[in-house]
Amino acid sequence: MTSTADKRAARTVKKPEIQQSEPTFVKVVIIGSGFSGLGMAAQLRRHGYNDFVVLEKADSLGGTWRENTYPGCACDVPSLMYSYSFETRGDWSKVWSSQPEIEGYLQDVADKRGVTQKIHFGQKVVSGYWSESESRWHLNTDSGREYIARYVVSGVGALHIPNYPTIPGVADFTGQSFHSAVWDHNVDLRGKRVAVIGTGASAIQFVPHVQKDAGTLTLFQRTPAWVLPRKNFAVPSPFRTLLNKIGLARILARWAVYWGAESLAFGLNGHSNLMRPIEKLAQWNIARSVDDPELREKLTPTYRIGCKRILGSNDYYPALNAQNTTVVDESIAKLTSDAVVTAEGTSYPVDVIIYATGFHVTDGFDQLALKGACGKDLPTHWHETGINTHLGITTAGFPNLFFLLGPNTGLGHNSVVFMIEQQIKYIMKAIEALDGVGAQRIEVRPSVQQEFNSAIQRRLSKGVWTNGGCTSWYLDSQGVNRTVWPGFTWQYWRATKDFRRSEYEIA
Ligand SMILES: Cc1cc2nc3c(=O)[nH]c(=O)nc-3n(C[C@H](O)[C@H](O)[C@H](O)COP(=O)(O)OP(=O)(O)OC[C@H]3O[C@@H](n4cnc5c(N)ncnc54)[C@H](O)[C@@H]3O)c2cc1C
Repeated sequence: MTSTADKRAARTVKKPEIQQSEPTFVKVVIIGSGFSGLGMAAQLRRHGYNDFVVLEKADSLGGTWRENTYPGCACDVPSLMYSYSFETRGDWSKVWSSQPEIEGYLQDVADKRGVTQKIHFGQKVVSGYWSESESRWHLNTDSGREYIARYVVSGVGALHIPNYPTIPGVADFTGQSFHSAVWDHNVDLRGKRVAVIGTGASAIQFVPHVQKDAGTLTLFQRTPAWVLPRKNFAVPSPFRTLLNKIGLARILARWAVYWGAESLAFGLNGHSNLMRPIEKLAQWNIARSVDDPELREKLTPTYRIGCKRILGSNDYYPALNAQNTTVVDESIAKLTSDAVVTAEGTSYPVDVIIYATGFHVTDGFDQLALKGACGKDLPTHWHETGINTHLGITTAGFPNLFFLLGPNTGLGHNSVVFMIEQQIKYIMKAIEALDGVGAQRIEVRPSVQQEFNSAIQRRLSKGVWTNGGCTSWYLDSQGVNRTVWPGFTWQYWRATKDFRRSEYEIA
């Protein structure tokens, strides 16, 4: 059987042989080849634009779905919806597809849409500046290449730079350790004493697999997650055939998933009492799987469901109920050469530590050191002024720069691919509008941006992420939510469906 790594190696496109000293001139540079960058590239082609490149720091495409290869890695929005609307598929093997299938899907879309050959792999954008005299961006990559472009579209993603906790003694630990997002498949967990630190979306997917292999599993939990019952199952063959053959069936099924997910937005945004029945269901999920009342209590969150990402699994709680698992909710004080030691002084000897401690959510942008017309680079500018954008797509001071899955366009309840697609359509309209009048420069008006930000922050202040009694990666260090879109996704569709020229300075 061919492994994911073999398939990836076979499809990996070599770095293009480009003359080192010559800059590459293109109309559009897209940064990143995940759902965002590939979707943008596909739509540029569809609209007849060929003068673009995709710069990707890694050696293969896929973003999130290239990086995360841990056992059990899968999407948590059904694949019928967690896929492009312009490239729907009826033959997903399961309702929630696994990582290799999603990575394969992205590869297929890129091949089919003629995007693969437009990707320059191994080109990490490390710096850049806006040239006012040329009305162009100059971008530099870590391999010494320069790209000069009229427009830059960032698809750098938010969830791919692993966040390692700062625990005293990390360097003293002599066993094996790795982060879930860079899973070390050479480490044999069979019979080992394994510690998992963290209980977020990745952990609940891989913990059941680790528990089966490990001699003992010690799970270090800071805050429990709400986990709803969820049985992933193979899509019955007749249904797959129907979805495959009849486009309308596929569209209807996709819409059913979409509206089912949308119904949650009401409870998340200001009507959190509506989430109580869902909490009851999650409590039942604990009760039916966990025998020990003390463990049940440890696993029951005290915050409102939805405040952190709502998770789903039928295997997670049984894995924690197993004989070889210990759940520790004391905070970790330090690591020694062979143990995790808690603040209460208990030492847990371990051979392997797996960090399931999430991602540097804003670091994708922090590393995007592009100097705008304002004279500052983006991270410095946003650190000084706060992260402000218009629609999560454009930001004042940075002409001709567009974001995909930018600030406040993430979701807690539906597929972000929907959001990405609205952004792509909006950017296409902006570029076409400029081309239509022979303009070369576009910058959002600061007043428009301010109005947008005030409005969404007002709405977010009523949302469960602010009022639900938890801290989460949705909030920045000041407690401001710079991550989530506060509302229904169709409201975002409505907000972005027209490109309003009056909101921009166009020259
Ligand atoms: C395990 C996991 C499961 C998820 N499941 C879901 C789900 O079910 N539903 C959902 O809606 N969302 C889910 N998400 C969120 C997921 O990140 C998004 O759905 C989506 O994949 C983001 O795509 P993207 O293209 O914007 O970013 P990414 O997939 O992160 O891709 C960004 C790309 O940009 C490249 N890049 C970054 N910086 C540079 C640079 N400076 N120069 C060149 N290249 C650069 C990266 O290498 C990467 O390839 C999940 C996330 C994880 C981690």
